[in-house]
Amino acid sequence: MTDKQGNLAKDVKSSYFGLPALDISLAFPQATPASVFPPSVSDYFQYDDLLTPVEQDHRKKVKEFMEKEIAPIMTEYWEKAEFPFHVLPNLGALRIAGGTIKGYGCPGMSITGNAIAIAELSRVDASISTLMIVHSSLAMLTIGLCGSEEQKQKYLPSLAQLRTVACWALTEPDYGSDASSLKSTATKVDGGWVLNGQKRWIGNSTFADVLVVFARNTTTNQINGFIVKKDAPGLTATKIENKIGLRMVQNGDILLKGVFVSDEDKLPGVNSFQDTSKVLAVSRVMVAWQPIGISMGVYDMCHRYLKERKQFGVPLASFQINQEKLVRMLGNVQAMVLVGWRLCKLYESEKMTTGHASMAKAWTTAKARETVSLGRELLGGNGILADFLVGKAFCDLEPIYTFEGTYDINCLVTGREVTGISSFKPAQSVQLSRM
Ligand SMILES: Cc1cc2nc3c(=O)[nH]c(=O)nc-3n(C[C@H](O)[C@H](O)[C@H](O)COP(=O)(O)OP(=O)(O)OC[C@H]3O[C@@H](n4cnc5c(N)ncnc54)[C@H](O)[C@@H]3O)c2cc1C
Repeated sequence: MTDKQGNLAKDVKSSYFGLPALDISLAFPQATPASVFPPSVSDYFQYDDLLTPVEQDHRKKVKEFMEKEIAPIMTEYWEKAEFPFHVLPNLGALRIAGGTIKGYGCPGMSITGNAIAIAELSRVDASISTLMIVHSSLAMLTIGLCGSEEQKQKYLPSLAQLRTVACWALTEPDYGSDASSLKSTATKVDGGWVLNGQKRWIGNSTFADVLVVFARNTTTNQINGFIVKKDAPGLTATKIENKIGLRMVQNGDILLKGVFVSDEDKLPGVNSFQDTSKVLAVSRVMVAWQPIGISMGVYDMCHRYLKERKQFGVPLASFQINQEKLVRMLGNVQAMVLVGWRLCKLYESEKMTTGHASMAKAWTTAKARETVSLGRELLGGNGILADFLVGKAFCDLEPIYTFEGTYDINCLVTGREVTGISSFKPAQSVQLSRM
């Protein structure tokens, strides 16, 4: 049957073997695929009224861009696990990169405006929203909050237009949840620093122009931050293959072998791991809004699909069990938006704690997991196809559940805040006794 390479012998192949797949609308004419994005119908409690006119305008602009420019191409690029670089200029023209940063060509949005923009990106495609969070809420914000005046002037204006792209490199192969123990080193030399070590999972890193890298200062033993430029001698970033979610995001393994960074590119505001907390506070709010946006999109898709698809002579929406699932999803979206919105308001009034942000991120990802799995059921077989959004969203949610602090780690952050007891490290193992 097969030759030595495992290929099917010629005589057992059909004449149509290897033909390209049928176009989805020909293969399944009864329901519209996500390339024509469904209307937005998840704002049941009219939370849009809570936004300012400026925030509503931003929301509308991002929504239109995503539906028009990303929805038609996202299945293809997600499947190929490639990023559609040609969309970067128009994504930059939305003027959301740089988020809350004021000046230096950045939009200076309210945190609520930034969050709702992230939700609208995620509603259509979570890979695009992840690129934006890594670029804007992690890398740009680190430069904005911890960089020198010269660094801000030099790097932020082109990053704000997405003429250049940034990444943010904290995680290492041996230090994920325990990132503050990282082992990459920064050694002082004449005129600068030499970086050695390894990073893993770093979004945008394979093509980023600007890499914000964290390493341990060999003199102080504290974590410092550095701006490394693309193609610096000794730097490589290679793509992590075979991901099941956020497939358009180019996550990389970074090797740092004697990479020289000049003194001007050391971030003066990162003198310990604690200094990253101002950045993580904002980025965690943004990540908390990704599952909200994903759930909105999945609800919208299911709402249309159930009315279009017929079984037993009636639309799927006619069945009580399906309506219950749809309403449970809608209820989840209402609750998630309210939690996300309140989190932004706490931040704006300077009352937000790390525990608040962690609980919101953990809880919205958990609720979204329930929402997308209900959606997956509702679409039957098409629920496992990227073409109908829900299968893709289902997979995209998994890395979000894990990054920016896993569900568990974020629960432990809030747990520590509300109990006063830290439980990150296991209790000392005790000798088993007969008692
Ligand atoms: C798609 C993707 C994109 C990413 N992008 C970036 C990026 O751009 N930059 C960056 O720096 N990093 C990035 N990360 C890394 C991400 O932040 C880490 O994956 C995450 O922090 C978890 O680390 P880990 O994968 O090593 O899991 P581990 O730390 O090995 O955890 C494995 C499991 O053990 C649990 N666990 C660990 N410690 C404890 C504990 N003390 N108590 C209870 N349970 C515990 C975890 O909750 C988890 O369930 C990305 C990851 C992914 C998957």
